[in-house]
Amino acid sequence: MTALTNLLDFSPAQLVEYCDGLGEKPFRAKQLLRWIHQFGAGDFDAMTDLAKSLREKLKAHATITAPLVISDHISTDGTRKWLLDVGQGNAVEMVFIPEDGRGTLCISTQAGCAVNCRFCSTGKQGFSRNLSVAEIVGQLWMAEFELRRAKGIEPGPKGGRQITNVVMMGMGEPLLNFEPTVTALKLMLDDNAYGLSRRRVTLSTSGVVPMMDKLSQDCPVALAVSLHASNDALRDGLVPLNKKYPLIELMAACRRYLAYAPRDFITFEYCMLDGVNDADTNARELVALVQSGVNSVPCKFNLIPFNPFPESGLKRSTNPRIKAFAQILMDAGIVTTIRKTRGDDIDAACGQLAGEVQDRTRVHERMRKMAEYREKFGKDFGRIVEVPR
Ligand code: SAH
Ligand code: SF4
Repeated sequence: MTALTNLLDFSPAQLVEYCDGLGEKPFRAKQLLRWIHQFGAGDFDAMTDLAKSLREKLKAHATITAPLVISDHISTDGTRKWLLDVGQGNAVEMVFIPEDGRGTLCISTQAGCAVNCRFCSTGKQGFSRNLSVAEIVGQLWMAEFELRRAKGIEPGPKGGRQITNVVMMGMGEPLLNFEPTVTALKLMLDDNAYGLSRRRVTLSTSGVVPMMDKLSQDCPVALAVSLHASNDALRDGLVPLNKKYPLIELMAACRRYLAYAPRDFITFEYCMLDGVNDADTNARELVALVQSGVNSVPCKFNLIPFNPFPESGLKRSTNPRIKAFAQILMDAGIVTTIRKTRGDDIDAACGQLAGEVQDRTRVHERMRKMAEYREKFGKDFGRIVEVPR
């Protein structure tokens, strides 16, 4: 028996090609796309306007399969977190954050992460593997239709949409899993699929400069850049990728991106670490960094109180310190927000997303991939951390 083709893996254009291979016209691909991504169909028999013969063909050759749910927790503040099985002992997390008038889904793009930022528990677990398109867009598919089911809201293109915003801020560095991430983004934006506005889909990156340029050409969505430091010496120690792409290059890439971006600013994320990057001098240095005449970067700052995890050895800045830091940025005319920590009770806050399931037998495979990344991005790139069961 040949393996079934997962239709969640296909971009709209690839679905047309696939239908062509089955001897079907392009409009069938549009019907399929709508059934899958607007009606949440996981079963070909439900696709009543497709000819019976086509449904039989699809049943024989294809499937619509999103990652399986390992666990599902709802926080007292309404935040909901799913742990998803992505096979071979790997798991990723996805978080839904309901707010007045909008619902934000935070999704993962890799199992683990090779960038190894000092303050991030995903990074501490090392890199396992890239997620496929089906595993990335399957998170949105699963969450949207599960949230509707829970509320008794019919699936379909109009009204009732539960997820209005997507942020790629879960596990992994999206720009190091470029092609699947972009295909998933295209599905999120497609009018025959989720039809989300580019402004409401945000990709967060630790600063993979060449891929930021590529994203601006292939699928410009709102961009968040994880800055976390006001100078290179500090950033080198917090975000190892900075050694490869230092601040001056990162700022230039942000300016280039803005020419194509759906918003006229970059969001800089800044994790507030007690005694490490939270002094007034750091705030002033940041102002100088983003407001340097012709080299200025129109931006907003989002200060994220550090979410501690046991082995980090770091502490969250105090609330008064965070406020004083924000004030310096605001006095310089920079819109600054302090992120509310949500889902604390279910470990769903930023940087606490660490797949609980690890497979120790696949270490060799992971080592090989890490060696590949080190060759590409420098010897300090990431490290393997074994998580004991
Ligand atoms: N790899 C991408 C996207 C995932 S991380 C990136 O780094 O941008 C999403 C955000 O959570 C990033 O800004 C990251 O720096 C932040 N983060 C990671 N660990 C954190 C922690 N322990 N506390 C608070 N924020 C954290
Ligand atoms: Fe990777 Fe982002 Fe965590 Fe850094 S902060 S280790 S880039 S997931």
